[in-house]
Amino acid sequence: MDGVLLLRSVATAMVRLSEVGDPGTATLPYPDEAQRALNNTVLTCLLLKARPPESLPELVEWAAHRPVDRWPVRLPPDVVPPESLLLDEATRQPTQLCYEWAVDAEDSAARHSEQRYMAIASRRCREEDYPEAYRAFRLLLVRRPVLTHRELTTLPAAVDGDLGSLGDLLYDVYQPAPAGYLDWERRSYTSCARCHTLLHPMAGGALWCEQRRCRDLGTVRRGREYQADDDGGVQLLLRPLRQWVSAPGVLEMRLARQLTGIGADVELWPGFGAYGMRVRCPDGTTLAVDHKDWASPALLGRRAAPPPPDPPYDRCVWVMPAARLRDHPDFRATFERYRSSASPELMTDRELLRTARQLIGTVDPDHRYADTARDGEAMEGLF
Ligand SMILES: [Zn+2]
Repeated sequence: MDGVLLLRSVATAMVRLSEVGDPGTATLPYPDEAQRALNNTVLTCLLLKARPPESLPELVEWAAHRPVDRWPVRLPPDVVPPESLLLDEATRQPTQLCYEWAVDAEDSAARHSEQRYMAIASRRCREEDYPEAYRAFRLLLVRRPVLTHRELTTLPAAVDGDLGSLGDLLYDVYQPAPAGYLDWERRSYTSCARCHTLLHPMAGGALWCEQRRCRDLGTVRRGREYQADDDGGVQLLLRPLRQWVSAPGVLEMRLARQLTGIGADVELWPGFGAYGMRVRCPDGTTLAVDHKDWASPALLGRRAAPPPPDPPYDRCVWVMPAARLRDHPDFRATFERYRSSASPELMTDRELLRTARQLIGTVDPDHRYADTARDGEAMEGLF
């Protein structure tokens, strides 16, 4: 079997297993996707005369311990970043890369991406000509990936009816927090002080955040603690929405503040979420900007396409965190090799700010390095 098809199949299986419980404790009968992924892997290994996994638990072990570039499959060059895993070793939760592979498969893309929910929100608000509701919904998803059940029921009223008819969509996108996040002794869940999603307890009392950016900052910081049974229980935003709406949203809001600070006119999520932000410079140049923090430059490159032209723009840019280039020096070259469209342009956050300053005509040498120094603080002081 083609290595790309196989990886998509295994990634989809791991995501599916994580939805029904802990991938490490799967029992017979296995979900269809998982059985199919196991069959595909065994067949591929036999064809390549490699030792196959003997069971689904062994395939899960591979996903959690064996970097994908060392699986006995034939893959195009650079299609997986070196040393990357499909499941996090400590928590057995799907990694960001695993989700990227799962949505690369057409038959599972809709199920595992954020698209189906965001498209509903966008369509409803467009029909009602209510952009404020779309924006309020999006802000909620960015700021509050965790809610108590009471907050979930009272929130549409609490935000002054700004969610419009999207209130009932909250019951689809927030689901009871999985038991894997529960501290059984304290009977509580702890959120991350930086990104506000739930932290995963690990052996020895440590806590783990799914956001690479939070882990990069060194120690995980405890945020709000939620008692398991208070206020009707704890609700967690679905993972694809955390990965593709909350996380980029935090970065888009930060960039928007920085761009506004240097004199650009910025609108977040214009055209009912047609793209991440519309940046207008005083000379009239308009940029359509999306934040794309992807683990795999190849999979990101395959999706490269300009956003819808409404509202209109002159140039479109995908912004990646500079930290990705540090971890993965070939990121840009690999992205370029896999892209099929000449746009959008790929820039780091700093390059975008530099480009905006040039367009605005306010290049200030003293500010050139300020963004680097402020990165950590800006992220912590977001809310
Ligand atoms: Zn975090």
